[in-house]
Amino acid sequence: MNATRPKHAAFPQFDVVDGCLHIGGMSLVRLAQRVGSTPFYAYERRALTERVALLRRHLPDEIHLHYAMKANPMPAVVQHMAGLVDGIDVASGLELKVALDTTMRPECISFAGPGKSDAELSSALAAGIVVNLESEQEMERLARLGKESAIVPKVAVRVNPDFELKSSGMKMSGGPKQFGVDAERVPAMLDRIGALGLDFFGFHIFCGSQNLKAAAIQEAHGKTFALAIRLAAHAPVPLRLLNIGGGFGVPYFPGEEPLDLVAVGENLRRLLPEVKQQLSDVQIVIELGRYFVAEAGVYVCRVVDRKISRGQVFLIADGGLHHHLAASGNFGQVIRKNYPVAIGNKMNATKREIASVVGPLCTPLDLLADQMELAKAEVGDLVVVFQSGAYGLTASPSAFLSHPTAAEVLV
Ligand SMILES: *Cc1c(COP(=O)(O)O)cnc(C)c1O
Repeated sequence: MNATRPKHAAFPQFDVVDGCLHIGGMSLVRLAQRVGSTPFYAYERRALTERVALLRRHLPDEIHLHYAMKANPMPAVVQHMAGLVDGIDVASGLELKVALDTTMRPECISFAGPGKSDAELSSALAAGIVVNLESEQEMERLARLGKESAIVPKVAVRVNPDFELKSSGMKMSGGPKQFGVDAERVPAMLDRIGALGLDFFGFHIFCGSQNLKAAAIQEAHGKTFALAIRLAAHAPVPLRLLNIGGGFGVPYFPGEEPLDLVAVGENLRRLLPEVKQQLSDVQIVIELGRYFVAEAGVYVCRVVDRKISRGQVFLIADGGLHHHLAASGNFGQVIRKNYPVAIGNKMNATKREIASVVGPLCTPLDLLADQMELAKAEVGDLVVVFQSGAYGLTASPSAFLSHPTAAEVLV
């Protein structure tokens, strides 16, 4: 890697050469030609690799890293991640199929998510992966399927803890939740797991998502370990696996600061000796989706029209909400804010203006940038939405208004 390659101050993960953004060593203009059509998503191998290395540098060696592939299930991305991380977490039968097509060993794949069908459980059973049980009923169904096929199910219990992850974008624990089994019911469930003869691995305790506050994550880690130690006393066999969730956030909007990984790592180093003393054979897993992939990806669309309406500039692009719901502000955001957007072939342009980037859909919701300062763009220029490697295409309503879907490339 050439450290002297020019970087753009606002988007340091990518190179800029002669005013044009480069992804994976290729200029965006040339990449668009290679793809053959706009819009498209491009994910950079180097950025993915560097992100995993960054985590390994800051987190204790004992921490195993799993990729929660719902953040970006493109098969080529999942395969690349499979070569870098220690496990893959899937959340559907189709994700499981993609994960099993990679080089990841089945014992390192786990399957979480409420409402697993018999077909999904049966396939997971045959594959020999670990099923994170989300309810007692799911446990009984999996045990029955195991008996029918003479395969002992590998299981972990997803616990809904009695605390929540503070300041996370999406809370997924504490109080009444559809995820996991309430902590107070877990001891009885562990007795039943022993009676059913299931191959018990451990616990999955996932508290929430998109958290940028190290202090909140540190607090959750402390409480998670304490809960796991408490519940492990009821387990039929010593704990082998403890998935402490993830929730590491990514800055999307002005004013947001990257997560302080140093603080998170130091806190884990402080907590681990006690955990290892209490749970000697346990493998500790942190599972992350967006933190691995979000910053490694861009969404690219082309300006197809330029309009001025009552003094305001509108750049009409060939892509929008139907490919990138999150950037339009409609994927769980309370207040709409602009994702980082730039004109990718005019990164250093001095002629700038305030413009809105809108898509081709007949709804005012189809907005990629609302009155942002951008390089002055013309028809044919390439609009780039950064921080787009996670929850992009597969988290968007592609069929809405029947426009073509977006291509995806890993460069
Ligand atoms: C969605 C999800 C993740 C990934 O969340 P990110 O915010 O992308 O890191 C991890 N674990 C579980 C159980 C999830 O449901």
